[in-house]
Amino acid sequence: MKVDYLILGAGFTGATLAERIARELGKRVLVVDRRNHIGGNAYDEYDPSGVLVHRYGPHIFHTQSKKVWDYLSRFTEWRPYYHRVRAMVEGKAVPLPFSLASLRRLFSERLADRLEEKLLTHFGYGSRVPILRLKEAQDPDLRFLAEYVYKNVFEGYTLKQWGLRPEELSPSVTGRVPILVSYDERYFQDPYQAMPKEGYTALFRRMLDHPNIKVLLGADWKEVEGEVRFHRLIFTGPMDEFFGYLHGPLPYRSLRFRLEHHPQPWFQEVGTVNYPGEHPFTRITEFKHLTGQDLLPHTTVAYEYPEAYTPGENEPYYPVPREENEERLRLYQEEAAKLKTVLFAGRLGDYRYYNMDQAVARALKLFEEVARG
Ligand code: FAD
Ligand code: UDP
Repeated sequence: MKVDYLILGAGFTGATLAERIARELGKRVLVVDRRNHIGGNAYDEYDPSGVLVHRYGPHIFHTQSKKVWDYLSRFTEWRPYYHRVRAMVEGKAVPLPFSLASLRRLFSERLADRLEEKLLTHFGYGSRVPILRLKEAQDPDLRFLAEYVYKNVFEGYTLKQWGLRPEELSPSVTGRVPILVSYDERYFQDPYQAMPKEGYTALFRRMLDHPNIKVLLGADWKEVEGEVRFHRLIFTGPMDEFFGYLHGPLPYRSLRFRLEHHPQPWFQEVGTVNYPGEHPFTRITEFKHLTGQDLLPHTTVAYEYPEAYTPGENEPYYPVPREENEERLRLYQEEAAKLKTVLFAGRLGDYRYYNMDQAVARALKLFEEVARG
């Protein structure tokens, strides 16, 4: 078989590049994925009871980018949705990101008033303050608050999720969930937040529905190498795997998901409840909040149990953002730069902690380079 572009991976990165190359450049594209479905980690499906669930963990779409929003809107209508998260702290479900509302749930009115005033004076209303920055505060009240939030929200959760302490990771990791100096109770503050009305898999089906695109599922790169002739290869799987772990493995973190069905309409008050404490899982998500299947009389929730990644045994869900891994990544990037016909992109291909919109933005940018020739 001969194609212009062979794309490994049918997730957001692979699907965006396939769609653009097929439609805009009129080239023939073969998309190959080793899983038996399209959509990558954003894949969703109906469970036996008819609840729409996300097989690889809960996915909520949010972006600051109008370009990404407009692009994806060609393939889906949207259901407006603001994700809300609670964290279990000292037996109370408090709003997360930690905000002025969280203060009021945990502390006496007097103490909450004082802390609020200090936050407003030091940072200003509407600021987003990463926990590692708040920890540097000199003011004794802010130091108290920083220690409290660090201990009760970040330390245990991060140890479970990554097997590392917050300081051992890039500050951008805990910076994803900053302390909000406001009463905004939404998990994300992006201007565009929504869920694809008919789900992610339907969105992907439309993206890949083009006469120039063929999709081969259940096939690994190794199986098609040598069988397919191509002008260019785009690889969205793990970069270290592509190079046979030449410079040693890039670390990833994995998860195990446990889905639980309940014969009652609702399980919890909001989409996700985080458990930074003793529990072996990090969070529980109830899909119906996300997807809007409000009328179903039963519900399904997902528990997330972090675990080490072992190639061949589980999935490399998270690249691990920290300096020592960047050094190894640079060695692989140097290998990649030597290859004229192979391009790498995506959460695994770039080894970057991308959200869905960032994966799409990266793919759109790479497409511009591809189109220039
Ligand atoms: P992927 O979706 O991982 O796709 C890569 C594909 O390549 C996979 O299907 C894989 O099977 C295939 N592949 C890999 N190697 C090979 C090979 N050798 N041969 C053939 N095929 C191969 N983002 C958000 O914006 N909001 C969220 O709420 C959110 N929640 C998340 C929750 C979890 C638990 C996880 C893990 C991620 C979450 N994300 C979220 C991030 C989101 O999943 C990614 O940004 C997005 O899936 C990246 O798309 P991708 O195409 O780069 O990678
Ligand atoms: N985090 C935490 N406690 C929480 C929520 C998040 O310590 O209750 C930290 C943790 O290190 C986590 C990171 O912030 O991995 C990013 O959280 P996010 O919810 O963005 O993670 P994701 O949805 O990507 O798994």
